[in-house]
Amino acid sequence: MLDRAVIDALFPVDLPEPDHWEQRYPPREVPDGAQITRFGPSPTGYVHIGNIYVAMIDQNVAHRTGGAYLVRVEDTDQARVVDGAVELLQRAFDFFGIRADEDDTNGGYGPYHQSQRETIYLTYARQLLREGKAYLCFATADELADIRKRQEAAKLPTGYYGTWAVWRDADPADVQAKLDEGAPYVVRFRSPDTLKPRAEFTDAIRGPLSAEDNRNDAVILKSSANPLRLPTYHFAHAVDDHLMRVNLVIRGDEWISSVPLHLQLFDALGFTPPTYAHIAPLMKQISGGKRKLSKRKDPEAGVEFYISAGYPTEAVLYYLRGLANGRLAELPLPEALEAPIRLEDCGVAGPLVDLVKLEDISADHIATLSGEQILTALRQWAATYDLDLLPVLEDDSARALAALAVEREGVENPRKDLRKWSDFRTACGFFFPQLFTLVTADDERLSGLKLTPEVIRAFASDFAAKYQELDDPQEWFNQIRALAGDHGFAPNAKEFKKNPETYPNGSIREASQIVRVALTGSTRSPDLFAVTRALGTDEVLRRIHSLTA
Ligand code: GLU
Repeated sequence: MLDRAVIDALFPVDLPEPDHWEQRYPPREVPDGAQITRFGPSPTGYVHIGNIYVAMIDQNVAHRTGGAYLVRVEDTDQARVVDGAVELLQRAFDFFGIRADEDDTNGGYGPYHQSQRETIYLTYARQLLREGKAYLCFATADELADIRKRQEAAKLPTGYYGTWAVWRDADPADVQAKLDEGAPYVVRFRSPDTLKPRAEFTDAIRGPLSAEDNRNDAVILKSSANPLRLPTYHFAHAVDDHLMRVNLVIRGDEWISSVPLHLQLFDALGFTPPTYAHIAPLMKQISGGKRKLSKRKDPEAGVEFYISAGYPTEAVLYYLRGLANGRLAELPLPEALEAPIRLEDCGVAGPLVDLVKLEDISADHIATLSGEQILTALRQWAATYDLDLLPVLEDDSARALAALAVEREGVENPRKDLRKWSDFRTACGFFFPQLFTLVTADDERLSGLKLTPEVIRAFASDFAAKYQELDDPQEWFNQIRALAGDHGFAPNAKEFKKNPETYPNGSIREASQIVRVALTGSTRSPDLFAVTRALGTDEVLRRIHSLTA
């Protein structure tokens, strides 16, 4: 073991002792059973939908137990830190309304950026060195690569342990010689000399678990050659979660295998370990099975996908809650958003993210909103994602409301063609003269009707001449029926089937389709009478006239 003087000389002279931090960050005064949770994003410039999923669970569990939810930016891997990444995270959390109770803007247990907690980590690294629970390791990258190669060749577990760990019990004189040379070093945790037969712990989601105990001497403080002496994830986790008085660590299940090491670290530091809850990752169905939703392969893995497409926040949150706790998917949205998320109800197999299901949920949700509510959300979305649509909505909000009312207001089964705000142009864009491209008789969009442009022109000009804005839908339609009769269309499909040769242009179906395509640009649309009411007669006639040109 190194002399205390040698160890202390490696650290700033005024580095506080552990007691200082213990007093600076006292245990929290919270009710019994209150859970203090945290989310620890790495600021890599990408926000995964799984981040929102976990943060949502963190916040819910903390709030319903009278605890607190904090966000700690895990930026110890400085090479991966991207400018603006924290803002991006903030934007995503804001969008989903998942605000931290504590972060750098507010909270007594900060700083909440790991890169600003260097002094704290140094205190505890020095402490472990002084107690012989950590040691300096001068192994170079080449030496470590060589160890790894030999372990792989011998089919042994890779790592720095046992006889491979040459600096674990190094002669203090050799250490001193390296220090005198100015050789860079890392600080490694000295895994306990006597290991437990198995490391055992209880996961709040998975119940009792056990694993082979850790015998790897993990790096806890990265290279002394770095300008900032930052810790590895493992060490920062133990120090931060202890000092921030976090008692429930909810995190991805890729960390389960690190729990034995983490328990050893908490023990060596004299800290009480938190309860762990390891969340299964969000999955995607692929042919022949499922795999983790992938940042590289799946656009829907990124939160930007949901925000830019304009899925309503509530719909996405409701969907995510249902993935976390299946029973919440059975409840109506407003109740599900209020109901607690229970860790014990989280599955151990990763739930599948199914966009078709999300779209259904979203369409159902939008169908419950008023025109005003939709317009407000739509405007907010368009202000970032559809700058051409925004002024149209601003200038013509009466028309937008009229369009949104068609087959939605006062009907039993409202239309569900809005699944996200970016559907608005397709579903309702035709109501706006600014967004509509007039249809001419030889337009592609009419080609499916198999009518000559002459027939269409003649029908349209007669329509324009005789058109009446009528209040009764049946009467309104009768005028089209009469007009269709005048132009050789069968009055109904049955009649057409009986005598197809009498009606070379088809039936009332084709005649109505001429009107539908002229007014909406599409062969499928909401009820035509309702459409004409929302468009207004002038606009109806302008569109019909275009067929005659
Ligand atoms: N920064 C870690 C990550 O991005 C957080 C893991 C944890 O929550 O402990 O995976």
